[in-house]
Amino acid sequence: SSYHKVLEENRLLYNQVQDLKGAIRVYCRVRPFLPGQQSNGQSTVDYIGEDGNIMIVNPLKQGKDARKVFSFNKVFTTNATQEQIYVDTQPLVRSVLDGYNACIFAYGQTGSGKTYTMSGPDLMTEETWGVNYRALRDLFHISKERADAIKYEVSVQMIEIYNEQVRDLLVNIRNNSQLNGLNVPDACLVPVSCTQDVLDLMKIGQKNRAVGATALNERSSRSHSVLTIHVRGRDLVSNSVLKGCLHLVDLAGSERVEKSEAVGERLKEAQHINKSLSALGDVISALAQKSQHIPYRNSKLTQVLQDSLGGHAKTLMFVHINPELNAFGETISTLKFAERVASIELGAAKSNK
Ligand code: ADP
Repeated sequence: SSYHKVLEENRLLYNQVQDLKGAIRVYCRVRPFLPGQQSNGQSTVDYIGEDGNIMIVNPLKQGKDARKVFSFNKVFTTNATQEQIYVDTQPLVRSVLDGYNACIFAYGQTGSGKTYTMSGPDLMTEETWGVNYRALRDLFHISKERADAIKYEVSVQMIEIYNEQVRDLLVNIRNNSQLNGLNVPDACLVPVSCTQDVLDLMKIGQKNRAVGATALNERSSRSHSVLTIHVRGRDLVSNSVLKGCLHLVDLAGSERVEKSEAVGERLKEAQHINKSLSALGDVISALAQKSQHIPYRNSKLTQVLQDSLGGHAKTLMFVHINPELNAFGETISTLKFAERVASIELGAAKSNK
């Protein structure tokens, strides 16, 4: 019967989830050269191994010193498709239907492909759909498959964190007043029943995001955007209820500002971004080391995601690399941040055994 099918699926999923539990995974994605930005065909990425290694070459150095290897759970080459990017993420997305919380982050400097991974390119076809849409499509698909056994309700929230202030991007939908607290739970929760509903909401969210911003691209690269998908499932046999949520987080650009540029508003933005990204690193690190004190309160980002970082929640971070020579400095600092996050996970996994 379909109920037994669900039980069997749950068992399989449970095993996959056990693999992921408590761990953070870090995947690295190198974006291709864009037309007109060929850097004379030269790339800072020298080699990508199937074992999760990536070798970076310093264009200004010679010999052995010029090369450095970083290791992750996986490294995707420039020709990886959106479909390939999503495949390994699927078990994590599916676990949300079983009551788990999960976070997927996109990290990297502006222009490295964060939005491409999470949403897709500006002109999208189904083939170039990003993680957001694929995740939603999956959630709706599976909840339909299980409809005989479990009744699911899906709802979404969209917020933006800019200069340590949380803005509800779906606020107009229910005419809610200003977002009072700091938590995602305070933001508008909009029920959805198909992928198209969500696409429509995201358009509204994007529009709201642009309000007050001089240039949308500028603004969006300096704010974190969080799309949260809540799932509530009622077991039709036992009547028990489970709840899970998935946060899809397109982080602000991780680039450091030039000293000469760092004045006024720009400096303030940069400080807020630095603060929240390092707070995120600190929280992940504290969780992995099983510290008594997890410093969630050091930034709005970590506060907002508190319930979904740590405990039984699962975290996945896509770090993005721009292979152009002039991005070398940022590439190294991105990889160092990511490796810090990733190696912590490996250490923690070892000590669990
Ligand atoms: P970010 O969100 O990090 O600022 P974007 O996602 O906007 O970066 O990517 C910058 C540009 O590069 C966009 O024009 C985007 O379409 C393109 N791009 C990024 N990643 C890829 C990819 N994997 N394949 C093709 N084009 C990409």
